[in-house]
Parts: sequence; C-alpha cells; structure tokens
Amino acid sequence: MQIRKIKKWMEAMAWTWHQWLVLVAVMVARVAGNPSTQTDNNYQVLAGQQVWEVEDHDAMKVVAELEKEGMVDILGHSSSTPRFRVHTDSIAQVAAALTEAGLTHKLLISDLARHVAEEQRKESLEFLRGSKTESCTEESCPKPLANTYMSFEQIEYYLKELVERSQRVELVSIGKSIEGRDIWRVHIRPYEDTGEDVRRNAVWFEAGIHAREWISPATACHLLEYLVADKSLTKNLDVYMVPMANPDGYEFSRTNDRFWRKNRRINAGSSCSGVDLNRNWDESFGVGASSNPCSEVYKGTKPFSEPETEALSAEMQRVNSVDDLRLMISLHSYGQVLLYPWGSSNEIAPETPLMKRAGKRFANGAQRPYKTKYTVENIAAGMYLASGTTDDWAKAALKVPLPYTLELRDRGSNGFELPANQILPTSEEVWNGIKKLFSFINKNF
Ligand SMILES: [Zn+2]
Repeated sequence: MQIRKIKKWMEAMAWTWHQWLVLVAVMVARVAGNPSTQTDNNYQVLAGQQVWEVEDHDAMKVVAELEKEGMVDILGHSSSTPRFRVHTDSIAQVAAALTEAGLTHKLLISDLARHVAEEQRKESLEFLRGSKTESCTEESCPKPLANTYMSFEQIEYYLKELVERSQRVELVSIGKSIEGRDIWRVHIRPYEDTGEDVRRNAVWFEAGIHAREWISPATACHLLEYLVADKSLTKNLDVYMVPMANPDGYEFSRTNDRFWRKNRRINAGSSCSGVDLNRNWDESFGVGASSNPCSEVYKGTKPFSEPETEALSAEMQRVNSVDDLRLMISLHSYGQVLLYPWGSSNEIAPETPLMKRAGKRFANGAQRPYKTKYTVENIAAGMYLASGTTDDWAKAALKVPLPYTLELRDRGSNGFELPANQILPTSEEVWNGIKKLFSFINKNF
C-alpha cells in the first residue's frame, strides 16, 4: 500500500526511476563531498584548548609575546583587544603571565574540540537542508561552489575548467608545496588584449596563505568569475592571482586540525611543524615574528626558506618586470579590515595617503549590497608588529604603491568557521570594493 502510494506520487512528479536514482546518487555524493563529514578527526587535536579574550587595549603586546613563545594563538583582527586560543598545556602559564601584567581574561570557549564539532554539525545540517544547492566532484568542477568549501582538488579542477571556458585565462604552476602540490597562478589578460607586447598596469591577488582562513580561497575563486566576466574595468589591466598559496596547510586544516595556520614544513630538531608563510618574506625578517617552531608566527630558518613563498615572490618579481604592479591584495580572515604597510615598524610607509585614500574607496564599495563595514588601518598601529609579510615585501622590494592585506568576514562571531552560506555574499561585497580600486588605478596610473 505504502509502496503503491510512493509510486503514485513519483508518477505524479513525472520522474523516471532513472531520475530518482540520479537524485539519490547526487545526495550521497554531496554528503561524501561535504567537508564536515570528511573531517571527523579534525577537532580531536583541539581537545582541552580554550579561547580567551582580554578587554584591555594594552593587552595586545603581552599576548603577542606569549604567541611568539608558542603558548597562545591570536585569532582574527577585528579589534585592538586580543582574542586568542590557549594551548591545553599552557593554560596555567598564560593565566599567570596575564595576572602578572595586571590583566584579567574572559573565557569564551572552554573546549575548542567540542566547539568545532558542534559548528561542523550545524554546518552539516545546513548543507543537507539546502536541497537546491550545487555540487561538484574532484574530476569536474565547472564553477566555484557557494554552499560548501571546496577541497584543493576541486579548486584545481575548477581552475582547469575555467581555462577551457575563457580565452582570457592562462594557468601555470609556479612551483610545488612541501608535500608536492602545485601552486597555481592564474593570469587574466586584459579584455581588450591586442596581443602587443606592452607594459601595462597589473594587479596581484594572493589567497589561502593561512590554512584555516577558508573564506580566502573561496572568495578568490568567485572573484575569478567576476574578473573573467568583466568587460570594462579590466580593459587594460593584467590581473594575476594565486588562489591557493598554501595547499598542504589547507588540506591539513580540512582533515586533521581545523585551526591549522602554517605550512607543513617538518622543522629539524623540533616536535612542532610548520612555518608561518606570512612571516617568511624577505622584509625586516624576524622583527614581529618568532624563532620558536612551536609558535603560530614562526618565521622559518631564513627569508624565503619555504618553497611556497619562494615561488610566490619569484613570480611577483617576474610579473613586475614585464608589467607595473599597482595593486596587491593578500586575502585573509577575519576582522573585516583592509590593512596597509608597514607591519614591521611604526614608521610611515611611502605613499601612505594614497594607500589610505584608495583603501577608503574599497571600503565604500564593499558596503554594497549588505552594508558590511570594512575599516582601513595600518598594520603596526591597528594590530601589532608583524614582519616578513607579503604586503610589506611588495611595498619595499617591488615598490607596489597599493599593497594590502584584506581580512575578510566576519568580526569574530564565527571567526575562521565562517558558514559556507556567507561565501557568496562575501565575494559579492569584496568584488564591489575591488571594482572601486580598479577605477582608482585606471584613473591614477
Ligand atoms: Zn591570515
């Protein structure tokens, strides 16, 4: 009786058995492809870790020192009062250090493993609820997904399919990561490319240098779609992008540790792995970074010791020799802030008024359509000293007039675990901001 009812209902839907089978297969594939179900052990290493906040503007210095020693991990850049992860075996020591400095802390998360598991459960439910959401496999991914964070393989296939689809796009591997993954660089030629060998204004985007900041590569892929479709602002602009600068770290954050930040370097003589790729560039190396391999801001053994930063910097240099790099944006999360150099000192960097002026244009543009507020700040003044970063190097070594670090959504309510349904809105608003920057370049250079 029941079966007959179902059959009748299916007939009413005018679907064939074959179509139903396809639907079931798609559902199964989607659950299998959903990072939340793939990564059931990626929070166990976080057991017992806590998240604290100190509501005191002078606390950042103290906490930054603790970070260099590998005891805490500063999360996001949404305010000048620090919010940070405390490693399980450092809880007592960190509490003592704060007390000694006359600071009191607030406990925000008492067990990070439980917290991540709960967030992933919610994300899973959200994923299954969205019945009309799109999907792709690791062998075919024609569009960037807006309902889930793609794996590195899916991103690779997406990039290869983008080349097939658009004659403006060129894709090359500029090097390999420590574990042998390709570091892909996309070049989108000017819309009115005459084929002539001329110097043009160029723009460089870098994403995914910090593993856990998943919204960064996700946004980068959507930006590629907007860029390829654009017919006016990129008329005479060469646009370059590395959508995944730290593929090993990204995959590790999907499978083993949701809060992984660094690359996957095995550090000689230490039980801690990874180098912070955004402290490894050859500019004021070491000033605002750590020499301790257990620190989240470990700078590495020497500038460009890592294959990822070596490949990125070499390609940026090459691009700047054939074109004029005017704008560089390194996509990070979180905090909703556009940061400009210097990070390594409190001195005023060259062209600071220009960086501020263009930055405000970005912030104005990015308010549409969701009224999202992005602030424009100097790295060292707004945050703490951070040296060996992409943007400082771009300014110092390549003389790029407008180099930025863009901290994407949000301001801390979800942090790195930004729900996937915010991928598209984030990309939309950022594209609106970037369009303003492109107009600025077209007018001023
Ligand atoms: Zn970052």
